[in-house]
Amino acid sequence: MINEHPGAVAGADRHRIDACFLGPYGENDALLERLVVEFLRDHVYWRRNFHPEDPPAISTEASRHPDYLAFESRMRRELHQLSAALKKSVPFHSPRYLGHMVSDLLLPGLVAQILTLPYNPNNVSEDAAPVTVDMEVQVGLQLARMIGYRHDPAQPDCAFGHLTSGGTVANYQALRLALALKAFPVALRDAGVPDLELPEDDWCAFNLHPHAATALLDRYQSWLAAQSPAQRRHWRQRVQSARIEHLGLAGFLARHAELRVPLVLAPVTAHYSWSKGLKLLGLGRAHLQLLPERGMRLDTDALEAMLDRCRRDRQPVLMTVGVLGTTEYGTVDPIDRMLEVRERASTAGLGHSLHVDAAWGGYLATVLRNEDGSLRSRDEVAADYQAFPAAEVYSAIAALGDTDSVTIDPHKLGYLPFGTGAFLCRDHRVTALLAEEADYVFHGSAPKGYLERYRSLGQFIPEGSKSGANAAAVFVTHRVLPLDHRHFGQLTRQTILAAEAFHRRAMVFAGQMQACVAALVPFAADSNLVCLALNPRGNREVAEANAFVRSLHDEMRADPGQPLQLKQFFGSVTTLRPEALGAAEMQRILGALGLDAATLEGADDGDDRLLILRHTLMNPYLIDHENGISYIDRYFEYLQERISRLSASRGRAAAP
Ligand SMILES: *Cc1c(COP(=O)(O)O)cnc(C)c1O
Repeated sequence: MINEHPGAVAGADRHRIDACFLGPYGENDALLERLVVEFLRDHVYWRRNFHPEDPPAISTEASRHPDYLAFESRMRRELHQLSAALKKSVPFHSPRYLGHMVSDLLLPGLVAQILTLPYNPNNVSEDAAPVTVDMEVQVGLQLARMIGYRHDPAQPDCAFGHLTSGGTVANYQALRLALALKAFPVALRDAGVPDLELPEDDWCAFNLHPHAATALLDRYQSWLAAQSPAQRRHWRQRVQSARIEHLGLAGFLARHAELRVPLVLAPVTAHYSWSKGLKLLGLGRAHLQLLPERGMRLDTDALEAMLDRCRRDRQPVLMTVGVLGTTEYGTVDPIDRMLEVRERASTAGLGHSLHVDAAWGGYLATVLRNEDGSLRSRDEVAADYQAFPAAEVYSAIAALGDTDSVTIDPHKLGYLPFGTGAFLCRDHRVTALLAEEADYVFHGSAPKGYLERYRSLGQFIPEGSKSGANAAAVFVTHRVLPLDHRHFGQLTRQTILAAEAFHRRAMVFAGQMQACVAALVPFAADSNLVCLALNPRGNREVAEANAFVRSLHDEMRADPGQPLQLKQFFGSVTTLRPEALGAAEMQRILGALGLDAATLEGADDGDDRLLILRHTLMNPYLIDHENGISYIDRYFEYLQERISRLSASRGRAAAP
């Protein structure tokens, strides 16, 4: 059986990841235990060595006191209850989990997190986290290198990145930064700052190319630095009071009659965090324009047409969003072509930012990166796979370095604990516009260095207090497994190979099952997420096919009322919608399944779309070479049995 999946981690490579995880069976328990105990003891010695002359404040007799014992027993009782309750958790670590973008945790990250927790660093600033704030800034540089941003802090236009609670807040930060940069040139004009070659009118100022706006900000900073302290204070205050951050959107627009609330253009497949972001920022959900996809990618012709219309209507655009790894299908938008469209629109006078939401797919870049940081050619990458990377996917990932900002979730494909999203921007100078205190740049009159500047992280990030343990976890993981194809990329490669094996097996399954069900992989996977559409033979109604898939999925999801062991596999579902796929694609898929498109159009909520199974192939142990087990095969055998049973009961129900 195993030999049917020759690609999925060839024998020689497989031991490279043996020490990476606790393992599905807890195989590396001794290693984890040793590390945790070692560093816990180390923490205790640290306490004792702070001022060894201070005597212990809790007496050695204390542990025999009834109050002590009562507290201990209450604590134990509650902890045991917690531990027992947690046994109902979703087994993310198991190769039987094929649901969402989460899997086992990398040991370096898990141990770094556990070991840092008792020190309780607060990454709001260096004062509260002398060690881990620096690690967070370094994580930004590690990720910047992975996607092709400049990552040398000695360069004035080095990138910058920081962690967030997740991709949602990183996307929010992208909106906030793009708006600050868009509106700043308008404020400079409003304040009447001399000597800067300001844009000729408000419209031009609001629609600069982000590079031009950044250069203008830089000129302003240099100009300011050359002023006397009194003049500097005066101008800083004047500009400050003309900024959108001071006036609010309504106040700002009231002063600039030519301007309107700018639009955000994103594909229909965009994550719902974009809707939240527009609400949160006060731009209003109506200013999020969703663009159609074609062949599972953002339709750049539609994007270009929309931008042309905006330019004619004098409707400003804040940013276009490309998705690298859509939440539902794992597909990749054509970032390279979106960049070309952005350049053309900017040249025509409609400058705006380009952000990539790579919350899900950001780490795919590891397989494109050499150890020295250079980019591998598509042929070099393709030699490791059967079909990956499609030309469009390669070009999209390779183009990341030219975008303005990127969201990446280490807690997804980074195999790190939740609470770690990341926001990156190409040129760190723009973060001046986020700072709460205007004088952060200048200490006296000397500009601060990069690392020194970001020690007051709380000045720049959406959050305030936040965990330094998260930063330590991501930093240490990226040190143990650098973000190139030979190190971290081995894990990424694994997931892509598993998806390719899954796709091949799905085709075999479709052939074996054709008497009772039409099965289809609706589109080739861009990376490690494979969907499966199903329709019982003879059925032509979408509602009926949906009910069938829903009952399959019902046995593959968490149910706190049932013992975990009753579940054979965990999976997830998503839907195919005409507005996301385009009419032609939708028609092709419905046709291949033998479904009547008319039954989709007239349907109620929920059945105006096709429910499909969705599988994330992220677990490193889907193919167990040790015991010759393929959990991919086992999954399809399980599905086969379930479908046969379901079909039989459908047959009985249909009989007179
Ligand atoms: C997961 C995801 C998000 C949201 O990230 P959270 O970490 O859940 O906040 C945003 N965009 C995409 C494409 C995602 O996959």
